[in-house]
Amino acid sequence: MPELPEVETTLRGISPHIIGHKVTEIVIRQPRLRWPIPSGLAALLQGKKLVSARRRGKYLLLNFGHGHVLIHLGMSGSLRIVKTDEPPSFHDHFDLVFGKQVLRYCDPRRFGCLLWIEDEPEIHKLLVDLGPEPLTDLFDAEYLYERTRKRSQAIKQFIRDSKIVVGVGNIYANESLFMSGIKPIRKAGSLSRKNCEDLVRDIKFVLQRSIDQGGTTLRDFVGGDGKPGYFKQQLLVYGRGGEACVRCKKLLKEVRMNDRTTVYCVDCQK
Ligand SMILES: [Zn+2]
Repeated sequence: MPELPEVETTLRGISPHIIGHKVTEIVIRQPRLRWPIPSGLAALLQGKKLVSARRRGKYLLLNFGHGHVLIHLGMSGSLRIVKTDEPPSFHDHFDLVFGKQVLRYCDPRRFGCLLWIEDEPEIHKLLVDLGPEPLTDLFDAEYLYERTRKRSQAIKQFIRDSKIVVGVGNIYANESLFMSGIKPIRKAGSLSRKNCEDLVRDIKFVLQRSIDQGGTTLRDFVGGDGKPGYFKQQLLVYGRGGEACVRCKKLLKEVRMNDRTTVYCVDCQK
């Protein structure tokens, strides 16, 4: 599933090819994504220049001046830049054509979306409740400490809540909790200030590292026949249940929490 680093990598990969360019055509082959693609979108975008592009959580926002296109990659979506003569594949559901460059969306499972936002994106119902971006100063130890007080929810579920902080997917939650030496099932409210410092630092580290690694696959966003590569992770615990802990060599424990795989070391994580 595309997580925050993949979405950030996508943004960086596509931006130089489309920002400052005008939409010359919109091709919608399959309007039934998670929500229907608005029928009037072509008329809204035809001839309009893309002013800027940014990411909020896992949403991409393309600013056309008079409104924003919002794209979410869902479970299996990807965007890439292709030439106008490249034939679409079965799962290529829409193209935003910018002259000779085509921004093409592929999504086998169709849980993604393409929407139009006329007002400020921050007050849109999909974005209004989102917590701070994890890689900004708004997400710091003091913030996490204050928000966790009196909360009995497990810390892993807590940091995966996009109302608390966006973009901490299951893999990143597992990895950062291991690095911080915090047991995933521990009550959020039991974290000390030092725990919060460690966890905030490690969440930022695992996300930034993935973004940095994504940078090496940027050329995959242009041309090519596959979808942009989701980078290989250097994983310490995720996917390693039953294997030896890299620190103490004891076997890592794997449990299900809210139907998601959770792996931790009973010795190294308190
Ligand atoms: Zn260990």
